Amino acid sequence: MPLFSNIFDSHSHYDDHAFDDCDRDLFISEIFGSGVKYIMHAATDLESSEFGIASSKRFGGFFTSVGVHPEYPDKFSPQILDELEKLIESEKTSGGKIRAIGEIGLDYHYEGFDREKQLFVFEQQLLLAKSHSLPVIVHSREATEDTLTLLKKHKPSGVVHCFSGSVETAKEVLALGMYIGLTGVVTFKNSKKAQEVAKTLPSDRLLLETDCPYMAPEPNRGKRSDSRMIAFTAAKIAELRGMDTQDLIDITNLNAKRLFDITD
Ligand SMILES: [Zn+2]
Repeated sequence: MPLFSNIFDSHSHYDDHAFDDCDRDLFISEIFGSGVKYIMHAATDLESSEFGIASSKRFGGFFTSVGVHPEYPDKFSPQILDELEKLIESEKTSGGKIRAIGEIGLDYHYEGFDREKQLFVFEQQLLLAKSHSLPVIVHSREATEDTLTLLKKHKPSGVVHCFSGSVETAKEVLALGMYIGLTGVVTFKNSKKAQEVAKTLPSDRLLLETDCPYMAPEPNRGKRSDSRMIAFTAAKIAELRGMDTQDLIDITNLNAKRLFDITD
């Protein structure tokens, strides 16, 4: 794996079952020793939010979001919203490493998903973000129109992660002042759309992410990914933009720190 420094992985899921076979703390500390400086945990439900907070207390460079993923709208309720509020409040007074609400959004990929409930859960969490002045980490799959409608209505700061839309859609996201997160998908041969976006994005709005354990970049496509593999994604984007890979990593590091209000 090519070695770079200062990597900010803006979207990870180290609580995923794919990492059950490792000692997670040991694994994450190895990653921090291999060129990765910051990791943002994208929470998927209450338990996952608690995982992110616990990990953020163990590793200086580990930050977290809290929230409920659009694939699990049934894991959201007024009680859960209350629990999320409590976590945000208590973290404010004890370290403060909750830096986003996420991942939240809409996913219309599967027929069985309850769109009405997803819309409700998304909007509730956009309001949660607003009330705590936190940015959002947005997941949008096959739901561009509804996602943009709600983002335009609430105007949060944040990132649309694992961006899979067109250059035109990217422009709409940028016009809202939001960032765009790119994964290993840009290294895939058939990902012309993502590559076009990677080429044309303004450099101050681009974030790098793994979405690990998913979306491993070439030459690891299909394998379990981790934050170190961002090196391949960064190298591909840098090549598309005709720039130095380390420079790209440094710029995206600053972008993520700006978005998630990380000052050290
Ligand atoms: Zn994710």
